[in-house]
Amino acid sequence: MGWTERHRLMLREMGLRLWVPATAHPVEAAVASTAAAPPVPASAAAEPAPAAVAVPIAARDAAIATMPWPALREAVASCSACGLCQSRRQTVFGVGHVQAHWMIVGEAPGEQEDLKGEPFVGAAGQLLDNMLRALNLTRDEAPPERQVYIANTLKCRPPRNRNPEAEELARCEPFLMRQIELVRPRLILAMGRFAVQSLLRSGEPIGKLRGRVHRYQGVPLVVTYHPAYLLRNLADKSRAWDDLCLAAQTAEAAARPQG
Ligand code: URA
Repeated sequence: MGWTERHRLMLREMGLRLWVPATAHPVEAAVASTAAAPPVPASAAAEPAPAAVAVPIAARDAAIATMPWPALREAVASCSACGLCQSRRQTVFGVGHVQAHWMIVGEAPGEQEDLKGEPFVGAAGQLLDNMLRALNLTRDEAPPERQVYIANTLKCRPPRNRNPEAEELARCEPFLMRQIELVRPRLILAMGRFAVQSLLRSGEPIGKLRGRVHRYQGVPLVVTYHPAYLLRNLADKSRAWDDLCLAAQTAEAAARPQG
């Protein structure tokens, strides 16, 4: 986790010290060595250092919730909040227009994404690109009504593409929440079970949740099947197309001036 000066000051104000793993990010190491450390009495100088205190999760999440893009990107890149940091090649932050009207939320990086550092670049990504093209949307540079923003619930690849674990989702969730807050999309397209679980707090199957407009923090949200699932279940492609049409109608309605 990387910390901006403002967040470091905030944590210091709160009297919190940062726990720093042995291989810590240099910024964290600097913070931990100075933050909220009381002066050491001369008589204690030879005593072993007290065990470092882990940053409480609530304080970490609160800090993430106010980060601007550069700090958020750095925080993701240096995150070690769950075990996935041990096996990842790199984090996969997200791509697209930072004021995109559409935000696409997937599950987690796979092998290709872990290699390239970009979401949805494997086979599922090609299908996603085709789906976007059919709606006149793109991940490539374009105005915000056409260029989407793509992010995942997890920023690190789970080993052998296993399902995300609850603890991993919980640690990573503040990053996605902040991305959504910064982009402020007019529509969120949640693809697959884990995106839905994170954003709607629902364990219902996709089949039960699709076909209507939900809300995430006031933003209209449409649920659809994950492209990787669609590659294996061709029969559901037409349902996914219906979902995309619902999403397009919803985004269009959100863009219309109220009156
Ligand atoms: N599946 C996802 O959900 N996200 C990716 O980035 C790649 C595959």
